[in-house]
Amino acid sequence: SPRPALLELRNLVKRYGGLVATDHLNLTLMPGEIHAIIGPNGAGKTTLIQQISGAITPNQGSILLDGSDITQLPMHRRVALGLARSYQITNIFSAYSVLDNLALAVQALSGGSMRFWRPVVTENALFEQAAAIAARVGLAAQLHRIAGSLAHGEQRQLEIGLALATNPRMLLLDEPMAGMGQEESARLIPLITDLRPDIAVLLVEHDMDAVFRMADRISVLVAGRIIASGAPHQIRSNPAVRQAYLGDE
Ligand code: ATP
Repeated sequence: SPRPALLELRNLVKRYGGLVATDHLNLTLMPGEIHAIIGPNGAGKTTLIQQISGAITPNQGSILLDGSDITQLPMHRRVALGLARSYQITNIFSAYSVLDNLALAVQALSGGSMRFWRPVVTENALFEQAAAIAARVGLAAQLHRIAGSLAHGEQRQLEIGLALATNPRMLLLDEPMAGMGQEESARLIPLITDLRPDIAVLLVEHDMDAVFRMADRISVLVAGRIIASGAPHQIRSNPAVRQAYLGDE
């Protein structure tokens, strides 16, 4: 029998007036897999990510996380179940150090609160966890740097670290390479692939070179529908994909 999916989208429909942004879409994310969604502008990639994170609710269909229906759950409940999303740089406290940012995020997760600082793990344990996350996102040498002084690429790495502080089983990444130069994105690729096998990644990315290097599986979204899904070499040689998408690059 097939392995159970970590995330499963069943017949997901999202409409904006007469426009069907997500059209009876089915998709799975297997445990420990990097699954990339590619597609032309307006294909529905952002709409899809927003439905998974809980920012918007589908009109029809369901979203299952480890077999449980999370379609109607608010975002924070999804996070508590192990579904994390990397946010934009706005989530970073720019006047705080890298280590303090991560320690705050770990603290918030472990039952404390940002507003009423009540440590529930020892401070040592907290900073140890924060330092381990910093290492995982390639910021071990920047622990005491003020976050606002980091380079753009490093701030994106810190964002991923903040998402990891919630101890996720799966991570949603919305264009992780956006605004990055060649060197910065080359540095990010192994950081993302090294999240396997304990964290599965669903990502939307326009940088095709990065997608074909990172993904175990690629799904092609065109006009709200998945027109093909497979290993990178299968997608690269799929005539329908080439015609609908890759061909016009
Ligand atoms: P891009 O690659 O340009 O970011 P995308 O694949 O992320 O595009 P979406 O942003 O999900 O595509 O948009 C899918 C379709 O839904 C588009 O036609 C878009 O105009 C429409 N759309 C998205 N959000 C809304 C909204 N809030 N109200 C109305 N239409 C919307």
